[in-house]
Amino acid sequence: MKENLGNCTKCGSKNIIKNGHNSTGKQQYHCKDCKAHRILESEKKYPEQRKWEIIRTYLEGSSLRGLQRIYHVAYQTPSRWIKKNDHFIANNRRNSCIS
Ligand SMILES: [Zn+2]
Repeated sequence: MKENLGNCTKCGSKNIIKNGHNSTGKQQYHCKDCKAHRILESEKKYPEQRKWEIIRTYLEGSSLRGLQRIYHVAYQTPSRWIKKNDHFIANNRRNSCIS
């Protein structure tokens, strides 16, 4: 049975094969369609859904340390998302104060 490795992050093809590990030990793949050699699951460690679940928990008043305890993520990770989405989060904070 063929192992599902996901899609090529460059061209989106499913036609990818495992291609050993890089120097930091991360699984790499080779795309047969666009010939890319890339690391599997590099920055996409957390699916969008998971990410927003964590952000929502933060909005409910959890601290970053709390998120670390609940989700076992390094607190720098949600901290980075929160900085990226700070306008959205500020709006949500304001709304939850009113309601
Ligand atoms: Zn590709």
